[in-house]
Amino acid sequence: MSDAQYMDETLLKGTFQEIRSAQRILVISHIRPDGDAVGSLIGLGLSLQDLDKEVQMVLSDGIPGIFRHLPGSDQIQKQAIGNFDLTMVVDCSDLTRIGDVLTGKPVPDVNLDHHPTNTKFARYNLVDDTAVATAEMLAEYLPKFGFPISNQVAEALLFGMITDTLGFRTNNMTPKAMKIAAKLMEAGGNLPELYQRGLLTRSFEGARYWGVGLSNLERDGRIIWTSLSLDDRRSVGYPGRDDADLINFLSTIDEIDVVIIFVEQGDGHVKVSWRSQPVYDVSQVASIFDGGGHSAAAGATIKGDLKNIQENVITTTKTMLGLMKDST
Ligand code: 5GP
Ligand code: MN
Repeated sequence: MSDAQYMDETLLKGTFQEIRSAQRILVISHIRPDGDAVGSLIGLGLSLQDLDKEVQMVLSDGIPGIFRHLPGSDQIQKQAIGNFDLTMVVDCSDLTRIGDVLTGKPVPDVNLDHHPTNTKFARYNLVDDTAVATAEMLAEYLPKFGFPISNQVAEALLFGMITDTLGFRTNNMTPKAMKIAAKLMEAGGNLPELYQRGLLTRSFEGARYWGVGLSNLERDGRIIWTSLSLDDRRSVGYPGRDDADLINFLSTIDEIDVVIIFVEQGDGHVKVSWRSQPVYDVSQVASIFDGGGHSAAAGATIKGDLKNIQENVITTTKTMLGLMKDST
């Protein structure tokens, strides 16, 4: 990444001084939480609690069942209650990602994230797009500024790193990330167990949901896509509003540059996810639809009906990828 952002040490130090001097701290992450959102939220929250701070950990959508094995996940609330000295947002590229948690107080104090599309919405913006996960940033910063990494904190942060890198195999992996993951293992993170739970284990309903998504799969040249409607979800009894990670399986199909999945949300919106081969930056396509993400993995939530959105997104993606190809 040519315009990679590295962390400003003065900013980092100043931010962690503020965190240390706060007593009541609110920590928030994003809607439809993934492993990095949950791992970062819990890892940070538990470390702050180990310094006797009063912490609330909030996910607007609550904690999905698949993450309940993580110690500390039982503390996650759907709403913030009371007042805080400091509000921290982790793994969110913009404020819409946190849902309706901060309605009364729109500017958070700390924004800690690794998305290149981050909009720098807080007083202190710690954004490092060279980090493979927000959990990697926390695993680096917390010990550096004297915040403890207990066994449970290590479990949570290692889980965030494993899931966001699909088991250390995404093309943004670095030697630094491997070293940080090794330190988390030394601090008590159980790599094989976290890997199994985070990336391999799935429910029976999830497997049937894949079946529906796979039978809807379409292709035009080097682009493939599929959609999952509300009816599809009901027919197999899948409880989530996500794609059950089907997109990561579709990304393993040979001779394909871009994969797109459309998931009908039931509130008049469709969640769109893109994955791409290195040359293509799908975060640029997602941005057109007010979404964001990384070059090789991006998403957006679009208002409208499934069929129209599917047509529009596929056309726009093809056009933009054509343009990208010309410029490379
Ligand atoms: P996924 O499509 O798997 O949910 O997410 C892929 C990447 O895109 C993640 O880095 C995620 O944070 C980002 N992303 C997904 N949905 C949205 C969205 O609605 N808005 C923004 N800004 N980013 C998103
Ligand atoms: Mn992340």
